[in-house]
Amino acid sequence: FEQITITNRTKDELTEMAMTFNRMISKLEESYTKQEQFVSDASHELKTPLTVIDSYVKLLKRWGKERPDILEEAIEAIGSEANRMKYLTEQLLQLAKSEEIIENEKEVVNIVSIVETTIQRLQQAFAHDIYIRNEQSTIQMKIHEQSFIQLLVILLDNAKKYSDDHITVELKDKKDSVNISVTDKGVGIPLEAQAHVFDRLYRVDKARSRKTGGAGLGLSIAMRIVEQHGGHITLESVEGKGATFTIILPK
Ligand code: ADP
Repeated sequence: FEQITITNRTKDELTEMAMTFNRMISKLEESYTKQEQFVSDASHELKTPLTVIDSYVKLLKRWGKERPDILEEAIEAIGSEANRMKYLTEQLLQLAKSEEIIENEKEVVNIVSIVETTIQRLQQAFAHDIYIRNEQSTIQMKIHEQSFIQLLVILLDNAKKYSDDHITVELKDKKDSVNISVTDKGVGIPLEAQAHVFDRLYRVDKARSRKTGGAGLGLSIAMRIVEQHGGHITLESVEGKGATFTIILPK
């Protein structure tokens, strides 16, 4: 009798282990597929400007000496495609940056003044008014300053790209966290796309985003930075009415 009990328990444990193992394998498979997809998408993104550069070089070889109009057009196009590639590779490198570097360089700073300075700096280049709402003038937190600034710039730059109206930045000092939200009154994000905007190279409207210069890496970099600070980002949006991205940093 004793023997059967042990056998049954062993069987249960084995089934449990097999199920855990299967779950692990499918998670690994899933992340492998995602990684493969990312490499293929990133290569495609880099290949497109290269193809344009290549065809202009061919055009230049053929007509460059006789046709000044072609020369000018080609220089313009090659320059802008090269810039696009530079921006894209910089962003890809940023994504690959090691986590320890960030961890070792964190310092306790006043994030209210960092937010204010970043907004002032960006305001020069923005046609949109940026308003700031904060209850306190000092909130001390241990962060990696340069990454934190980059995070703000990504969210503010998106708010600028996808809206024509003013942008509001709000800082809230809560009991367990500091919440920083960036709100715009622009095109917003359709519900079905909201779960994907943080995926690498995802863009809601590829044609529109290509015009605005985005490669769909900004929000994945933002998400990475927030995770390196132990926090997360939430998104609230109604299509056509705007979007609010909130950075939640634990204390
Ligand atoms: P991109 O460089 O294309 O802006 P992101 O990763 O920053 O890449 O954003 C991914 C996509 O999410 C964008 O292409 C855009 O479709 C959408 N998106 C991001 N921020 C906003 C916003 N504030 N309003 C509307 N759509 C947004």
